[in-house]
Amino acid sequence: MIRIPGSGLFSVVNRFVDRAIGADGLSPLVRQKLLHQQLRSVAEMTPAMLAASVAVAAVFLMLSWGSPRFIWVAVAVGVIVAMQLHSVYLAFRHAQATAHSVPNTTGRRTIIYALLLGVAWALVLNLLPSADSATIRGAAVIGAGGLACVAMMALVNYPQALAAFIIPLIDGALGLVTAFDNGPEFWAQGALLLIFIFILVTISFYHASAFVAHRASETLVEEKGEIIGLLLREFEQSISDWIWGTDADGAINRVSAGLTAATGVPEDALMGADFVHFLRCITPPGDPMFAHLEADIANRETFQDVNLLVVADGTECWWSLTGKPAFDEVGTYLGYIGTGSDITERKLAERRITMLAHHDSMTGLLNRTKFTENLNSCVARLERYGTPFALMFLDLDHFKSVNDSRGHMTGDKLLVQVSRRIANVVRDADMAARLGGDEFALLLPSECEVADVVALAERLIHDIKQPYVIDDEQVNVGVSIGIAMAPLNGTRPDQILRNADLALYRAKADGRSIYRLFESEMDSEARERRLLEGDLREAIGNDELVLYYQPLVSAHDEKPVGFEALIRWNHPIRGLVAPAEFIPIAEHSNLIVDIGDWTIFEACKAAVTWPEHLTVAVNLSAKHFRRSDISQVVQRALAVSGLAPERLEIEITEGLLMENPEQVVEKLAEIRALGVSIAMDDFGTGYSSLSYLQKFSFDKIKIDRSFVHASSDNEVSRDILKAIASLGKTLKLKITAEGVETREQADFLAGIACNQLQGFLFSRPLDSIDLPLYLLKNVPGRAAEVKAEAERALGRLAS
Ligand code: C2E
Ligand code: CA
Ligand code: CA
Repeated sequence: MIRIPGSGLFSVVNRFVDRAIGADGLSPLVRQKLLHQQLRSVAEMTPAMLAASVAVAAVFLMLSWGSPRFIWVAVAVGVIVAMQLHSVYLAFRHAQATAHSVPNTTGRRTIIYALLLGVAWALVLNLLPSADSATIRGAAVIGAGGLACVAMMALVNYPQALAAFIIPLIDGALGLVTAFDNGPEFWAQGALLLIFIFILVTISFYHASAFVAHRASETLVEEKGEIIGLLLREFEQSISDWIWGTDADGAINRVSAGLTAATGVPEDALMGADFVHFLRCITPPGDPMFAHLEADIANRETFQDVNLLVVADGTECWWSLTGKPAFDEVGTYLGYIGTGSDITERKLAERRITMLAHHDSMTGLLNRTKFTENLNSCVARLERYGTPFALMFLDLDHFKSVNDSRGHMTGDKLLVQVSRRIANVVRDADMAARLGGDEFALLLPSECEVADVVALAERLIHDIKQPYVIDDEQVNVGVSIGIAMAPLNGTRPDQILRNADLALYRAKADGRSIYRLFESEMDSEARERRLLEGDLREAIGNDELVLYYQPLVSAHDEKPVGFEALIRWNHPIRGLVAPAEFIPIAEHSNLIVDIGDWTIFEACKAAVTWPEHLTVAVNLSAKHFRRSDISQVVQRALAVSGLAPERLEIEITEGLLMENPEQVVEKLAEIRALGVSIAMDDFGTGYSSLSYLQKFSFDKIKIDRSFVHASSDNEVSRDILKAIASLGKTLKLKITAEGVETREQADFLAGIACNQLQGFLFSRPLDSIDLPLYLLKNVPGRAAEVKAEAERALGRLAS
């Protein structure tokens, strides 16, 4: 509330009036403005007050003409008219002042002026020679009433001043009418005056409060308008947000700085252009979002945050447009008004997020989630339009060994390079994904010809096989590929995936770095494998597994020096199943651990019954080796059987050393620490056998039978065999040659100083019946012992 300095009475009155007219709740600033407006409305009426005062003064001078009081009346009305003139002057000055420059004293001065004028008029009324004439009294009352009415009109918005004027005036008038006669008609006149005054003041308060309410809301609207104006100006000046507008014909009639900056088109060129046409020119053809927007504008509908990809000022960016049709009071369409903003940054961020969600962060290829999504869309398209497609599974060969031997960093870099090669080979429409680890997948949505898919697979195999240079070192890796064609090899996603996987399985089983197309036999083979796996689970408990023993003979005198244990599965229906058929199945499940443990125990148990100079060799699957605490198992088998550790030999293949070689070497050393010897089996079939020979000092290497076989008519093979034999001599390793089938081979191998020979030439793997007979024939001096063993075996067979 505005503070009027001066006597406390003013403040009290002001506060009372403010409360009565509802101006007490206003903020000081608004109250100040309001006071300004109140005073202005008072000021506007001061000439009317002056005119009324001059008229009443003239009548009163006329009425008192000739009376001795004339001179006093003249002086008093003179003062009143002078004061009125002064207030007209003050009002003129006030009109020039702004709300903020209204001095606080103006309000008080106005009230004082009103009070002084009221008192002056009351004085004049009582100076009139009214005792002489009822006419004068009547005229005085009419004059007072008239002045009260004019004051009411002039001061209606400022009740304080009105009260200050009217109260003394009416008091004077009442004094006048009651001074001479106490008769009822005078009381009636007095009462009437009071009633009028009451009504006048009430109306004034009512009017003033309406005025306050009106002005207050007006001020509020003004303030809001100012704020909106300010925001709009700021909005229009910003580059990333802008305002646009069109007329009823769709021509642009409002352009803000942001729009010209965003488009690079000057304002003059934009003004008057067709808005929809303009957008059509800068959006890509056939954009569905633009079509929506066009329809909305055609239907005069409001649209909000329509995101458009536009090429503005030569660069691609994203706009968000909002628009609203405008109508006048009678509903005539005026055009559109709307805003726009450049949301390129946001869109790019969104795109980055989607990219992250859909792509493998390391290689940038699609990830499994997105791949599955795409496969589902391919299948949906197949169902709907019959569009065929192909799915390829890629699995790197021996990637794990790179990872383990050269570290994960190198492994990751290799994956990135492989991904790049894959991406280079495939076409834009194809989808390449990394499913995890070293597994990749390709979806070829437009590939329906087997020949094309095969060509692509061959190219992938060729390209991926080329050497990689990572940190100045050469790295090699291959890839196996399984292919399923849809709908030929399946119409459901799970079916297609499974069949491509089966084809991949076959590619790996058939030697790696090759591709295989799915064939229906693979499905039946897979089913077969599942059946076998079920049977295999029960095989150990049912005593269906048996060990055959194949002799190893000394190259020097061809006398047996030991046996290699070779497992067979005596299947109740299928008969004798070869290890090549069921060991991979056992490895695929966890059965290999039970089977492997069983083999070690069984071989040790058998060997203790043989002549003491004979050793027993046990093949160890890499999976078994990794999944169990193998040295513990060996230790227990030796303890349980009582076999001397020197008589046990463990055969491993170099594949075991390809993953985690340090860990494997550690475990091998533990086994050797028990006194057991370790042989490297199938030597020469792997990749870099020599490097593995350096990692662990084997006791023996067994040359793969493919070399022995080839040596019969191949000079190179013979040279290789010679080289291996001399290598064995250098490294102080025993050399065993496997698969010796001919006398010729045996002689050659003995000639190049192989230590031991193994093969059908000497004996096939022997079962528990043939083995004692073999021993009987080939180990002189132990005949009786062996005969007893043979009888025991025959007895077992008979029971
Ligand atoms: P391997 O360790 O190389 O075993 C030698 C294989 O060569 C045996 O086949 C044997 O019967 C065969 N063989 C021996 N002499 C000749 C010959 O003169 N000519 C020809 N053509 N072949 C000959 P088998 O018993 O079928 O075993 C195949 C493979 O299965 C083995 O190859 C070995 O890797 C694996 N295996 C055998 N028994 C076990 C076992 O108890 N555990 C594990 N983990 N694998 C085993
Ligand atoms: Ca072997
Ligand atoms: Ca072998």
